Amino acid sequence: MTQEIGGFAALDLHPQILAAVSAVGYEEPSPIQAQSIPVILAGHDMIGQAQTGTGKTAAFALPLLSRLDPARREPQVLILTPTRELALQVATAFETYSKQMSGVGVVAVYGGAPMGPQLKALRQGAQIIVATPGRLCDHLRRDEKLLSTVERLVLDEADEMLKLGFMDDLEVIFQAIPEGRQTVLFSATLPPSIRSIAERHLKEPKHVKIAAKTQTVSRIDQAHLLIHADQKVGAVLRLLEVEEFDALIAFVRTKQATLDLASALEAKGYKAAALNGDIAQNQRERVIESLKDGRLDIVVATDVAARGIDVPRITHVLNVDMPYDPESYVHRIGRTGRAGRDGRALLLVTPRERRMLQVIERVTGQAVAEVRLPNAQQVLDARIKKLIGGLTPLVADAETSHGELLDRLITEIGCSPRALASALLRKATNGQSLNLADVEREQPLVPGASAPRERRERAPGDVRERRAPMPLAEGRVRCRTALGARDGIAAKNLLGAILNEGGLAREAIGRIQIRETFSLVELPEEGLERLLGKLKDTRVAGKSLKLRRYRED
Ligand code: ADP
Ligand code: MG
Repeated sequence: MTQEIGGFAALDLHPQILAAVSAVGYEEPSPIQAQSIPVILAGHDMIGQAQTGTGKTAAFALPLLSRLDPARREPQVLILTPTRELALQVATAFETYSKQMSGVGVVAVYGGAPMGPQLKALRQGAQIIVATPGRLCDHLRRDEKLLSTVERLVLDEADEMLKLGFMDDLEVIFQAIPEGRQTVLFSATLPPSIRSIAERHLKEPKHVKIAAKTQTVSRIDQAHLLIHADQKVGAVLRLLEVEEFDALIAFVRTKQATLDLASALEAKGYKAAALNGDIAQNQRERVIESLKDGRLDIVVATDVAARGIDVPRITHVLNVDMPYDPESYVHRIGRTGRAGRDGRALLLVTPRERRMLQVIERVTGQAVAEVRLPNAQQVLDARIKKLIGGLTPLVADAETSHGELLDRLITEIGCSPRALASALLRKATNGQSLNLADVEREQPLVPGASAPRERRERAPGDVRERRAPMPLAEGRVRCRTALGARDGIAAKNLLGAILNEGGLAREAIGRIQIRETFSLVELPEEGLERLLGKLKDTRVAGKSLKLRRYRED
C-alpha cells in the first residue's frame, strides 16, 4: 500500500523530506500539518492554533526544510521555543527530518549551558537555529549581526513564551531579523498579547485553526490514565490484565509503535497483531477476519490502518497514543459499542497532553474519568479469577477421563498430587506469577520506575519526555505522609480521612498516590495550614497520618 505516503506526497514537500517522513513511520499528516504545510511552503505568514501533541513541530519543520538552501552555510531559519527541553526536542526533530539531506546543520541555543560551543556551532554554518529567547538575546548582545541572514522565523508555543516573560526578548529578536522575513506563530491560545504581537510583526497572516466540533459519543464507558510516555507499554500490559475484554483495538501513532506493542503483547501470550499502512491489503483483510472469528484478540493499529474496521466483538478501544483531535478520538472509540453493545474506551495521557484531554471532554460533553494503574493485588486477583473461570468447566469430568494417567504420573514422577497440580498450573499459565510478592517483583508499581525492557524505543522524531513529577493543577500543592501501601492504606482510606476530618469537598482534593513507604495527595494551597492543623491528630489504618507539605525540588 502506498496510500500512506499519498497523504504527505500530495503536499509538495521535497523528495528527501518525504523519504525521511516515511522512514520515521508517519502515515499521514495530522490535521494541523495538512493545513499548515501548504501555507508555509507558499511563503505566507501564518498563525496556527492547535493543542499540544497535534504534530506542530513537523507542521513547520517539514516545509521549512523543504525550502532550505543547504548550499548557503549561514542561518536561514530561526525557531523560538519557551524552554530548553522544547528547543532540544525541536532541534532533534529537525535533524531527524533532514536525515536524507546533506549539508544541513541545526544548532540548539539555550540557557544553562556554556555559550562558547553554541557560538562555535553557529559560526560553522548551521542554517537552522532553535533557541530560547533569553539565551538568544545574550548571543545577540555579543554579535548583533547574528540573525542578519535569517529569512524565516517560527514562534513555537508563543503563549508559553509570553507566560515565561519573554515579551521584551521577542521584541529584540524581531528587530534583529531583516524585514521581508516569513513569520509563523504557533500557539494553543490566542490571548490579546499574542494578537498584538501578530498585528505588529506578521504580514497578512493566514489563520490555521484546528477547530473542535461537537461530537456525540454514546454507550461507551470512558476512562483515562496519566502516564509518562516511556511507561506506556508496561501500563498497557498491566491494564490488560484486569480489563475483561473480548476483542480490543489499540491505537498508536506510528508503524514502528504498532510493531513494538504487538510483539510485546504476543510475548505475554496475547493473540495480537499489528496493522499499519505497510501491511498489504490482503494481509490486512486476514487480520480483520481473524479478529472477527477470535483467532486474534488484539489489533494494534494506526488511525489510517484502522479505517473501516467494523468488528462487533470489539469491547475495548485502547488509545495508547493520543489522537490528534477530538474528532478522531470519537472515531476511534466508535470501534466499540457496536450493534448496541456496551463498550469501554481507555486513554493514556502524558502530562503534556492533559490539555487535549480537556478539549476532548469539552467537545464530547462527557467526563473521561481518571483511573489508576491496577496494583499487584488487583493483577493477581484478576489472574486467579481467570484461572478459576478457565478450570471450572474442565474439572467436572477431568478426574474420570485422566484418572489412570494421573496415578501413573504421580507414581512415575514420585510426587504428591498437589505437587503435580502445581507443576501443571505453572505450565498452563506459562510460568505466570501467581503470588503477590512475585507479581510485585514482575512490574514495579511506582510510575516512573518501569523496567527498562518495558521501555519502548522511541521513533527518532519522537519528542523526549522530561522525567518530571506530574504537574499540579493551579492552586494545589502536594502533601506527603509517611504512611504507604506497606501500612495497609489505600487511596480511599486517605480520601475518607481527609474528607471527614478536614471538612473538604471531594473536588478540592486532587490526585492521591499511594507508594510503598509513603503517599502523596494534592490539596488546595489556600487554607492549607488550617487544614493540616485539623488533620493533626487524624489516624488512618490505626496509624497517625502526619500530613506535611511536600516540596520535591
Ligand atoms: P506538538 O508540537 O503539537 O505538541 P509534536 O510536534 O511534539 O506536537 O508531536 C507529537 C508527537 O506526534 C511526536 O511524537 C511526533 O513524532 C508525533 N507525530 C507528529 N506528526 C505525526 C504524524 N503525521 N504521524 C505520526 N506521528 C506524528
Ligand atoms: Mg510542540
